[in-house]
Amino acid sequence: MPTRPSADVVVVGNGVLGLSVAVAVARRAPALRVAVIGPPERPGAASAAAGAMFNCFGEVTQYTARHPAAEAKFAIGRQALDMWPQWLDMLTAAAGPEGDALRASRVEGTFVVLGGRSGRVATRNFKAIRAALAEHDEPHEYVDPTDVEIDGLSPDLAARPFHALYLPREGAVDARRVLSALEAACRRHNITMAPHTVSRLSTGRGKMQGVHLSDGSRIDTGTAVLAAGSQSAALAAPELPPGAMPPLLHGTGLALVVEPPRPRPATSSVPRTGPRRAACTRCPFPRADSSTSVPPTSSPAPRSPGPSSAPARAC
Ligand SMILES: Cc1cc2nc3c(=O)[nH]c(=O)nc-3n(C[C@H](O)[C@H](O)[C@H](O)COP(=O)(O)OP(=O)(O)OC[C@H]3O[C@@H](n4cnc5c(N)ncnc54)[C@H](O)[C@@H]3O)c2cc1C
Repeated sequence: MPTRPSADVVVVGNGVLGLSVAVAVARRAPALRVAVIGPPERPGAASAAAGAMFNCFGEVTQYTARHPAAEAKFAIGRQALDMWPQWLDMLTAAAGPEGDALRASRVEGTFVVLGGRSGRVATRNFKAIRAALAEHDEPHEYVDPTDVEIDGLSPDLAARPFHALYLPREGAVDARRVLSALEAACRRHNITMAPHTVSRLSTGRGKMQGVHLSDGSRIDTGTAVLAAGSQSAALAAPELPPGAMPPLLHGTGLALVVEPPRPRPATSSVPRTGPRRAACTRCPFPRADSSTSVPPTSSPAPRSPGPSSAPARAC
């Protein structure tokens, strides 16, 4: 079996999580040899499809304060909200020119709207967002959309918004530019990028020993970080006691990218609804090239994730 040069840390998966972990490790411990394994075309990656909206309070629902798991997710979201500006500064500096392109794609602030076609669930969730903003002293502004024009919204009369909340700290970036900037930062930190797929982990006496790649080669390592999205469970399960690995579900859906007939200025903020029943938000994802990604459909897929499936989305 061919053996590749060993690494101190092997990151399995080249989505936003894997690349971010690799950059963070390389910055903290420059002497470590870090390798990221993942196919460049990223089949099934959520990171390539994401809106890259940065929403914490915008994702609050009527159930957020009612379940420990939802509360924990919200608490992590608040931490991330505080850390995001420094992370963006670090990443743009570490990425060079790709970092400038990422920064240019940044859209500041989000309008969460409640419109004429909003149902009971959306209405309750909107109230829950407002209550959470007040409870946690999060900067926000109540906006009367009949007085203020919301950039990027030109709704049908029956669907026009009647209430809106402006969240200045919650915006968006272009997901493709995040990935490009992370890849550039990896190159600048001498992180090895191996364009392969990990077929299995190799452990012995309870310790990590290496990873096997789909081309039959192997990389020896004492530390592997699993960041392969919905495929992580399948890789980890054989190495862990039964039941130790929580199920990771993925969704499947379709998204449309719409290009305007004439170039138009990018929107200055993200307009979106609050979370809705059995669906994500309704919001067009702004992209840096002035195209728009129309909200994807998403439905839970069967429990045996296929290779081209995307992980369950967080929005
Ligand atoms: C349509 C959509 C919209 C979203 N919008 C938002 C949003 O607006 N805001 C937000 O915060 N989140 C959003 N999300 C969620 C967000 O995209 C994910 O939480 C995030 O991208 C997950 O990143 P990841 O690196 O864990 O996984 P992924 O992006 O799925 O990356 C996993 C990577 O591992 C690779 N891989 C898989 N198996 C192997 C293997 N065996 N060996 C090596 N590599 C492997 C894959 O090819 C892939 O590149 C959205 C998700 C979707 C699908």
